[in-house]
Amino acid sequence: MGTLFGVKKKEYFSVKNIKEETFSVKKTEELGEMTCSGCKNEYSKALLKAKLFICPNCGKHLTVSARDRVRQLADKGTFKEQNANMISGNPLKFPGYRTKLKELKETTGKRDAIITGEGNINGQRAEIVVLDSTFMMGSMGTVVGEKLTLAVEYAMKNTLPLVIVSASGGARMQEGLFSLMQMAKTSAAIEKFSENGGFYISVLTNPTTGGVSASFAMLGDVILAEPDALIGFAGPRVIEQTINEKLPEGFQKSEFQEEHGFVDKVVHRSELKEVIGKLLYVHKKIK
Ligand SMILES: [Zn+2]
Repeated sequence: MGTLFGVKKKEYFSVKNIKEETFSVKKTEELGEMTCSGCKNEYSKALLKAKLFICPNCGKHLTVSARDRVRQLADKGTFKEQNANMISGNPLKFPGYRTKLKELKETTGKRDAIITGEGNINGQRAEIVVLDSTFMMGSMGTVVGEKLTLAVEYAMKNTLPLVIVSASGGARMQEGLFSLMQMAKTSAAIEKFSENGGFYISVLTNPTTGGVSASFAMLGDVILAEPDALIGFAGPRVIEQTINEKLPEGFQKSEFQEEHGFVDKVVHRSELKEVIGKLLYVHKKIK
């Protein structure tokens, strides 16, 4: 029985890899249960997907994959993905890294922790970038850095506003220095975009930490955040251990960061699309 299942599973994934956007991939994503990290209630993924991955019981904003985030934000049928097939090499020959990437591609259909493309948000055209915390913690390696930079350059060339939704633990350990270099690369691209009069909305979701929070995520003209998201460079535990002091309640949460001026507005996920759409409309360039 186990062997038969194994064979079927292998066949299934080999078919799935041919095309990412097939019905079967969507079905896989909907299979299974998900436990709310807030109230510990269990829900089917299909139900949570319909509820924008907001817990129906406690209202906690649960993890959203990049593909689901694009579905939530972009108007139906408007999103055109770019550079979908880019995959990472193993520049440092880090042991096991290539195998890990291959396994993730086979089991999730994802090639890396980012999706980029052009689409409409509430009728407003924009270049959209979404990080995926379900793929190696959304860590920024060379593919994330390169795809994000290409997206910023595309937005600049086509006079499009830029919307980046961050969800990342920071740099990708397996790519070492190459990963850290992406901070400078993406920040420089944003700077150039900004100098050329580009408008950039940064959306911080849980978690936005490490090298991502220390580069492009904090460079938005407008910085929005989802409720109760962890936003900061080092995690609270590391800071507490370093300074040997207890941190204040809610430290590094979106609401705390809003109060202290790092975030312009905390926006509930159910209102995010509308708020972004309105901001894009207000900042629309008159040609
Ligand atoms: Zn809950």
